[in-house]
This record gives sequence, C-alpha cells and structure tokens, in this order.
Amino acid sequence: MTPLKNKIIAYVKQRNPDQNEFLQAVEEVVTSVSRVLDRHPEYDDLKILERMIEPERVISFRVCWQDDKGEVQINRGYRVQMNSAIGPYKGGLRFHPSVNVSILKFLAFEQIFKNALTSLPMGGGKGGADFDPKGKSDAEIMRFCYAFMQELYRHIGDFTDVPAGDIGVGSREIGYLFGMYKKLKNEFTGIITGKGEHWGGSVIRPEATGYGLIYFACHMLEANGESLAGKKCLVSGAGNVAQFALEKIIEMGGIPISVSDSSGYLVDKDGIDTEKLDFIKKIKNKKRGRIEEYVDQYPDAEYHETDYNSNPLWNIKADCAFPCATQNEIKEKDAQNLVANGIQLLAEGANMPCTSEAIGVLQESKVLYAPGKCANAGGVAVSGLEMTQNRMGVYWNRDDVDEKLKHIMKNIHEVCLKAAEDYGVPGNYLEGANIFAFLKVAEAMKAQGMV
Ligand code: NDP
Repeated sequence: MTPLKNKIIAYVKQRNPDQNEFLQAVEEVVTSVSRVLDRHPEYDDLKILERMIEPERVISFRVCWQDDKGEVQINRGYRVQMNSAIGPYKGGLRFHPSVNVSILKFLAFEQIFKNALTSLPMGGGKGGADFDPKGKSDAEIMRFCYAFMQELYRHIGDFTDVPAGDIGVGSREIGYLFGMYKKLKNEFTGIITGKGEHWGGSVIRPEATGYGLIYFACHMLEANGESLAGKKCLVSGAGNVAQFALEKIIEMGGIPISVSDSSGYLVDKDGIDTEKLDFIKKIKNKKRGRIEEYVDQYPDAEYHETDYNSNPLWNIKADCAFPCATQNEIKEKDAQNLVANGIQLLAEGANMPCTSEAIGVLQESKVLYAPGKCANAGGVAVSGLEMTQNRMGVYWNRDDVDEKLKHIMKNIHEVCLKAAEDYGVPGNYLEGANIFAFLKVAEAMKAQGMV
C-alpha cells in the first residue's frame, strides 16, 4: 500500500470503527486520488480527501408506526448529507433491514462521485431505514412512509437535499413520502424525485438506471470494436434496475439468461424475451413475489436457492455480466468463475456489487469493468433532469429525456476514458471515474474555502 493509502485507511478505521462497507468504498478511491495528489499537492494541504470522507451531517431518527394488528413498531431512520460542494445533497432512500450508518455512508460517499460524473449540479447524500417492506400490507407501507417523512421533512428541500428511491423504495413509496411532505409544508415543490409522471415526475426515471447501464455497456463494447448483439448476459436482481436493464438488453439484441432475488436465482438458457420479462415484472412488482414462480410458467428454466458464500449464478457461461441486486454480491471466487468462463464485460447496475478482491481479479484478467458510479449514474442523472423540470415548471417528453440520458451516458464514458488516459491508466474506468469526479468536487471545495 502507498503511504497515502495507509494514512487514509488508518484514519477512517480509527474514526469509524466497524464501518466496513464505508471503509471499502473509501479504499476504492484512495489509489486513484493519490495519482491526483501527486500532481495537485494543494488538495493534500487543504485535506480535501479527509474532508470528503467526513459527512457534512448525519441525521438519525426514530420512526414509530402502527402495524395492521395495532401493534407499535419502531424503526430507525437516517439521512446522510455527505457533500454539497457542487449542488444540493442528492441520493436515494433505502428501506431494508440491513440498513445502518456504514452502508448509508458508503452509498452517500459513492454518490458524491457518481453525481459529479453526470455533469449536473448535485451533491452527495443517501438515507433510509432498517424497515423491511417484504410482506407488509399497502396500508402498513403507507403508515411507515408517513411516519418517516414526519421527521425527514425538516431536513430536505428542493435547494437543500432531494432524496429519491433505492432498494425497497419504488414509485408507491415515493408517492406516500411526497404526499406527507406536501401536507406538512403546504407546498408542491420538487423535494423528491421518482414522482409519477402526472404529478411532477420525469418520464424515463423508472427506466433510467437500467437503460443507462446498458447504454454505457454498449459504449464500452463499441470502444473495443464489439456490440451487445447476440451476447449472452447474466443479470442479477429482479427489481427496478434489473428489469429495465433486461428490457434494454433485449432491445439491443443481447440475450439475458438470468435474474435473481434475495431467495434464489433463475437461469433460462433459451433467453428471457419481452413476454417472459413482462411475467417477471408481474411477479415482482406486485407485493414483491418470488422469482421462483417463473418456472411454473416456463418449466424449461432452472431455479436454485442462493448460497451467498459462492453464488453459482456467476458460474454460468456468458459474455457480459450486469450485477443489479446489492453490494458485495460478487466475491473473489465468483469473479474467478466469471473469468474462467470467458466473461468479456462486467458493468455494475447495483452500487458496489463487487468486493475489492473481485475487482482485482477482473482487472488483472483484462475484463472490461465499469463501477456503479459511472455505469449506473443514469438514474440519478434523470433525477437531476426531474429537478430541472420541476424548477422550470416544464414537461419534457420521452424522446427529449431519453436523448438527454443517452448524451449523459456517452459523456460519462468519454470523461472516464479521458481522465484515465491523462493519468496514465488507459482504459481503466474505475480510475477514470474516481479521478474525474474527485477533481471536480475538489476544485469546488477549494474555491469555497474551509466550510
Ligand atoms: P429494488 O428493491 O427494486 O430491487 C432489488 C433487487 O435485489 C430485488 O430483486 C431484491 O430481491 C434483490 N436484493 C435486495 N437485497 C438483496 C440481498 N441482500 N441479497 C440478494 N438480493 C437482494 O432495488 P433497485 O433495483 O432500485 O436497486 C438495486 C441496486 O441498484 C442497489 O444496489 C441500488 O443501490 C442500485 N441503484 C439503484 C438505482 C435506482 O434508480 N433504483 C440507481 C443506482 C443504483 P427481493 O425482491 O427478494 O428483495
């Protein structure tokens, strides 16, 4: 390890004991940042990186609500306002039992870089609660969202902090959260993105992360003289990001052959076509059903329960892999399996789905690898476009927004490659993304002084 890496890791560990996911996210950028600091010692003098890894604000609050049996339930809600150097805090809300400060800090930290890459003025934030939406009735979800917003509303605003969805927070939850905000503040402003199309939302926002991921992957392939047509694709997850990644893979002529959820994974070697994808949406979008139900309809497909120590999903022969479920779902052994089976490209739809060891294996083996902060930035980019439409009071149609999304993903691809080239690591998307985003945010922090 370089002296800077040693210093930063020791510093983060000492100040944030047991925050392993956060440490992992910081570790991932330190090598890239040390390249920048060699050329820009002024950022080191100003302790820019040390300041970037200290959240500007962490809010933790009690969320009390009543379940259908009339029993009182207590959850913990959070908002991490990580960095506002280039714009208001922006990042999703996650409702999942695993949510804690470490996970939200890693996500908020990643978000600083991702948002900087979009070219839109958005800072980094993330929030959520350790609430498990699985098995909850619609009325329970509504009561929970209301209770959550009754505290969160004090801390957000269209020029302060603009949350959005993430795992467990889809259009239904966004509706309830926005409804309560509007009632409490008596104002209709764009304080949350992912709203419905007829009440301030942007078209293409639900599709944006999955579509953007595949647009980005197509640029990676194109830069190497290839295309997605005819390529077999592994996809994990079966939620928002996975569903629209599947849709765009099919449209681009690729052949998706898998999906997964927290219970297991499914392989359909004949390929998942539009009709089968509609069936997956039907299973997952109503009450978060299990993808296991797919084999009742399509018995030639195989379903297996997941073993998280080594996920056999990543041991299936394919050309491209798109992890779209959750953090650390691809471990070192999974990456070795992917490489042994000749994978050409891995682009992250989820945030930090590969462990650092897995990334090491992919990069050593010259697999085209793109981290989530560039490959899945399409979601927050269209959220940024939703904020713009809300502020201007205008409506952009599907073609307008899709064109803008395509342009943003193309631009992210270009700036990553250019930064990587400029800093002597050509073709390395991870380094390029970190370097470009760090430079942009560091310059803003330097200009704004010691705040
Ligand atoms: P959803 O809640 O819509 O879907 C998540 C999917 O992953 C579900 O299929 C879920 O299974 C599965 N999953 C969740 N947790 C686990 C786990 N611990 N182990 C295995 N599978 C799991 O979320 P999204 O699709 O919105 O988000 C997926 C990923 O993409 C996350 O990492 C998120 O941070 C990232 N992301 C999302 C963006 C967005 O716009 N939505 C933007 C950028 C990144 P089950 O149905 O069983 O819960």
